[in-house]
Amino acid sequence: MAGSPTGGAVPRIGVLALQGDFREHIASLTALGADVVPLRRPEEIDALHGVVVPGGESSVMDKLSRAFGVAEPLAEAIRGGLPTYGTCAGMIMLSQRLTSAIAGQQTLGILDTTVRRNAFGNQNDSFEVDIPMPDLGEAPVHAVFIRAPVVEQHGPGVHVLGALGDGQVVAVQQGNVIASAFHPEVAGEDRFHRRFLELVHSA
Ligand code: GLN
Repeated sequence: MAGSPTGGAVPRIGVLALQGDFREHIASLTALGADVVPLRRPEEIDALHGVVVPGGESSVMDKLSRAFGVAEPLAEAIRGGLPTYGTCAGMIMLSQRLTSAIAGQQTLGILDTTVRRNAFGNQNDSFEVDIPMPDLGEAPVHAVFIRAPVVEQHGPGVHVLGALGDGQVVAVQQGNVIASAFHPEVAGEDRFHRRFLELVHSA
């Protein structure tokens, strides 16, 4: 942990707290022993060892993060190697390319992915399914999808962590950045947060 701002072994994690289910991520990471703070202002980024972009509504999160001046410095920090985990709207925020974005919607432009928002339509708005994800251990991941996106296309540097039975990609990792289309933070599933904290410790 080079240049650890806290000087100690407890990592300081910022959860982007402009909109969405940031409280659930703060609870999940606090339970795993991290020092977790809400991230709302650009000057807070430098003190962080990792960042989480929560679920919510990506178009609103996009607007607020630009209005608060957080988007650009955050994208720069993530490109510089800051370990990051995004869920659902967070996955959308991290993707370089979107299909079905609203007019003017931007992203942080990190992952070499094309993500489709609201990929499961109205009839299948929300659902839960167990998905085998060998990278995370033997037990399947109980995945809660809420108006979720999917990864439609990804570049060679993107590792697929999980896909649905029909092949649709719903969890990926590229370097220090993890993203899932579903919400482990509402399902009592802590292996994504643990994997993220491992990235933080080895960064
Ligand atoms: N549909 C939302 C969006 O486009 C994401 C939903 C979620 O984060 N649960 O941002």
